[in-house]
Amino acid sequence: MKNFEFHNPTKIVFGADTVAKLSKLVPETARVLILYGGASAEKTGTLAEVRSALGNRTVQEFGGIEPNPSYETLMRAVEQVRREKLDFLLAVGGGSVIDGTKFVAAAALYAGEPWEIAERGGANIKQALPFGTVLTLPATGSEMNAGSVITKKATHAKLAFHSTLVYPQFSILDPRKTFTLPVSQVANGLVDAFVHTTEQYLTYPAQARVQDRFAEGLLQTLVDIAPTAIDTPDDYDTRANLMWTATLALNGLIGAGVPQDWATHMIGHELTALYDIDHARTLALVLPALLDVQREPKRAKLLQFGERVWNITSGSDDERIDAAIARTRAFFEGLGIPTRLSAYALGQDAVEAVLKQLEAHGMTALGEHRDIDLARSRRILEAAL
Ligand code: NAP
Ligand code: FE
Repeated sequence: MKNFEFHNPTKIVFGADTVAKLSKLVPETARVLILYGGASAEKTGTLAEVRSALGNRTVQEFGGIEPNPSYETLMRAVEQVRREKLDFLLAVGGGSVIDGTKFVAAAALYAGEPWEIAERGGANIKQALPFGTVLTLPATGSEMNAGSVITKKATHAKLAFHSTLVYPQFSILDPRKTFTLPVSQVANGLVDAFVHTTEQYLTYPAQARVQDRFAEGLLQTLVDIAPTAIDTPDDYDTRANLMWTATLALNGLIGAGVPQDWATHMIGHELTALYDIDHARTLALVLPALLDVQREPKRAKLLQFGERVWNITSGSDDERIDAAIARTRAFFEGLGIPTRLSAYALGQDAVEAVLKQLEAHGMTALGEHRDIDLARSRRILEAAL
């Protein structure tokens, strides 16, 4: 196992009817900004519950944070925070609203041009406003991690940043809040959580046996609950398992002491930035192709994945790896999520465009061995055609 430090300061408040607990979680004297996305938070009644729980605190609102939150939109929230001297943020939504809130928390107190935060990957964040979240979409893990992904529309740049200063103080996870999700977003959540796990598991053996078992448990749980999560929106226990699994997939626990890949995410970000494909859907395009191209460096873990997650126990090593990749692809396709660029009418032109973006963003040495250069990214993208 590699050396690691693990400190996750986010308090999780989990369960039915927990939004009311905001009355205790948000400081009495806070000047609060509620941030949310499009119409869903109002329509589902979640905003009304949040307002009521905040009682007579000073509260303002900022709506309209779009999926794949943009710097352009978020800077309007930054201006509001500064102008109105607000000092506590509350994100109500999915990964986009939470990531956006992290940016606003850091940008509001940043002395320079805030886009530099994304450009420098968060290394220049010296302080950030405190914030909490009410999660409405299980997928990203953003509710319990220190990462965020922001898009500058003007240049089609989708960049991630990290800082321990942007962990949420608390996150409220009420599985009932997911009952109103469209099926496509539930499918996206299953895939995003699955790929967050493989990014930290399908690398090379690090003798981190317990992390391996955690990761395999998360993957198996996602596969087990997927049919009910899709078909029975109000099955509380299924949604509870989905919500907690997605959080655990990216809160630092399974990533402690192990090598990490993240190339699927980095290539996927470029596909979202260029073609506006949902985040999870880009991952389903890239992962099966990447596992095939990277089968040598990942050989031992691919065999373990095949045996322990998919019960593949016969055939030659290469046949088992083929079968593990095929089962992964079939899992995504079974959720209605395509695994081929052609499904989006994208071809060789898209491969060239993504490669150009990867180069522009310095994404030329990706993966746990930093061996995914542009030539290998080309092979991965061509394998996804
Ligand atoms: P999202 O973009 O936050 O939300 C997708 C859609 O779901 C929105 O249109 C939203 O509608 C709707 N929605 C949310 N909750 C709903 C509910 N309870 N009922 C009905 N509709 C609801 O999706 P996401 O997958 O959670 O976040 C994706 C973003 O997170 C991407 O930008 C991705 O790059 C990023 N990400 C971050 C991390 C991280 O660690 N920080 C990890 C992976 C991905 P409204 O707009 O109308 O509310
Ligand atoms: Fe993700």
